[in-house]
Amino acid sequence: MTLAHTLGFPRIGARRELKFALESYWNGETSKQALEETARTLRLKYWQQQAEAGLDVVTVGDFTYYDQVLDASARLGVVPERFDWAGGDVDLDTYFRMARGRAPSGPSAAACTMTKWFDTNYHYLVPELSADQRFELARTDLEEQVTEAKQAGFTPKPVLLGPLTWLWLARPVGDFDRLTLLEPLLDAYAEQLNRLADLGVDWVQIDEPALVLDLPQAWKSAYEQAYHRLKATPVKLLLATYFGALEDNITLTCELPVAGIHIDAVSAPDELIQVADWLPSHKVLSVGLINGRNIWRTDLDAALATLEPIKAKMGDRLWVAPSCSLLHVPVDLNQETELDGELRSWLSFAVQKLDEVVLLKRGLDDNLDEASRQALKDAATAAASRLRSPRLRHPEVRRRIEDSERLSLDRAEPFAVRRDRQQQRLNLPRFPTTTIGSFPQTRDIRQVRRDYRQGRLDAADYERRIEAEIQATVAAQEALGLDVLVHGEAERNDMVEYFGEQLDGFAFTRFGWVQSYGSRCVKPPVLFGDVSRPEPMTVRWTQYAAAQTDKPMKGMLTGPVTILNWSFVRDDQPRSDTARQLALALRDEVLDLEAAGIGIIQIDEAALREGLPLRRRHWPAYLDWAIGAFRLAASGAASETQIHTHMCYSQFNDIIESIADMDADVITIETSRSDMRLLQAFQRFEYPNDIGPGVYDIHSPNTPNVEQIIDLLEKARRVIPAERLWVNPDCGLKTRRWEEVKPALEAMVSAAKVMRQRV
Ligand code: GLN
Ligand code: ZN
Repeated sequence: MTLAHTLGFPRIGARRELKFALESYWNGETSKQALEETARTLRLKYWQQQAEAGLDVVTVGDFTYYDQVLDASARLGVVPERFDWAGGDVDLDTYFRMARGRAPSGPSAAACTMTKWFDTNYHYLVPELSADQRFELARTDLEEQVTEAKQAGFTPKPVLLGPLTWLWLARPVGDFDRLTLLEPLLDAYAEQLNRLADLGVDWVQIDEPALVLDLPQAWKSAYEQAYHRLKATPVKLLLATYFGALEDNITLTCELPVAGIHIDAVSAPDELIQVADWLPSHKVLSVGLINGRNIWRTDLDAALATLEPIKAKMGDRLWVAPSCSLLHVPVDLNQETELDGELRSWLSFAVQKLDEVVLLKRGLDDNLDEASRQALKDAATAAASRLRSPRLRHPEVRRRIEDSERLSLDRAEPFAVRRDRQQQRLNLPRFPTTTIGSFPQTRDIRQVRRDYRQGRLDAADYERRIEAEIQATVAAQEALGLDVLVHGEAERNDMVEYFGEQLDGFAFTRFGWVQSYGSRCVKPPVLFGDVSRPEPMTVRWTQYAAAQTDKPMKGMLTGPVTILNWSFVRDDQPRSDTARQLALALRDEVLDLEAAGIGIIQIDEAALREGLPLRRRHWPAYLDWAIGAFRLAASGAASETQIHTHMCYSQFNDIIESIADMDADVITIETSRSDMRLLQAFQRFEYPNDIGPGVYDIHSPNTPNVEQIIDLLEKARRVIPAERLWVNPDCGLKTRRWEEVKPALEAMVSAAKVMRQRV
């Protein structure tokens, strides 16, 4: 028999029940018992769903109150000193203080850093290690959940984050090699596995996605050391890899002394045969052929055809699963009653993916009943209907794409020439001041958008309200003395959704929430078909804003790569093709803004970096088409039009050449928290165009003072010539309040004025 399982299930709840339970606990509205009760109910429901779908085991330990990496750290007793943890059990509030800096009880302290989980949009909390770090099992939640599952009649397969992936993701505080901590860490893991064995656990899934990364030799050896050590424990380990190909780690992984491995055959289809060939004959192979990262229904016939030869070879040692945890897809398609039937028939969310896994199992075991046979047929019909659908391919878009080969990706003239022309037109002072685009999204303005969306406000009233907001935002910027103004983005709910809603080729779900971090979720648009722009998307509001002032108005667009990276994207053509379609639509928008008299246009690429492949050798190909898409969007602009871009992260060292290749006239970046050190990358590379290093951190409610900003600008001036520096915050201001924004920008403008006196 083929064993069916999942590497993990979404924990947030079909209606985001966990989010609301967490937030009301944090706000002091409900008790800890109530939160724990909700969590228990949700877990039981998820196990129920897995069992009812027909999975052979249920996954335990994928549930978390905040983040699975933080769970691993807390269980190991890895609590940074600032949280005043006295040892013993890490209680829930200490756990929340690590995650968020505060909790209903216990002193507040700076939260742990958050960063992206591999190449996903999920964020984990970075473990912090001291050189003399000790490990002691400090939470029993996993054991309790195993017991809970058993008592409810399920067969639990606990999941643990593997020791080496956890260690790889951890940050050493101080100057030491993390691997020096491996031995004591393995003691703790062995103890944890023993405890699970004591509960009668048979299989443990141990997640080691770090095996799909470029690993230094010392880490590869550490893998051998670690799993030889853990081999002695009385449980069977299923070592799970996902998110990419094993490549140079393939033999290493196949030969680790574990009872089985899981591979992601969606992102690395070519390795499947190789792994099946190389895997020692006593080991289990779990194959992930149902995409855990995207929402398209699987062509199960094709999947079965892929699996059958493997089944013939492996027999009962073949397991089937989604490619990775289902954490990265929305929960249940059945809730999407407003999607049109055809589109819906193309999709599969977490609950549906469980069914897909089970159908594969039944197909492989020749155990298809009438209903399963019908389901397989439906899946094949749906897959074929999507690929054939005229909704996916628009001849006109296709033609334009072909024609676009003739378009130059270069602006008409080099930067030095453009710069003079732009300066003649804009006549900006030195150290020009600007903002990144959004201004505070007040409760009031959110309400206006909601009322309009739900039909309580008609179009005319809505437009009046947005105009009033724009007018006030422009007036505020004039009063502050900013040089380049923006309209403030009051009409935008989200920087990707806003554009998706106006482009053809996108669909939107009602409940398609995916956890981003903690209780925060995002609802990525579904990019299913050829992208085109029926009409201008931003011209109306930008033009209105421009008419309210004599100062230059900057138009605000989200770039093609960011729209792509923050959507669920069609899989029937390369992502690069889809990026090109988005770029053409944005190119039209740039030209329309320009024709409407807008002299400065910003094309945000907030998510460009996070699209980087996990393996370095794939970087050049990605950067080539991603930067190409940006250039295609921008290159139609006349020399007099100033193109800005914005990126809100602070790692540029390794991609600075590509950033320079974008050839934006001005780039605004996040730097205030790095004390301008990040500019060194730009200096070393002799980055030629203008730069606006963020001079204050918008994520903090603290108001910067004039001296601090001057100090940062002085540092900036030492590495970048003064005439190429802009002055702006780190990112958009939408999450801040006006009371915070006004004094901060006032200080910023004053600092710029002081700097002008000094040159
Ligand atoms: N223009 C957007 C804003 O100001 C940019 C946001 C971002 O980079 N994340 O909100
Ligand atoms: Zn930003």
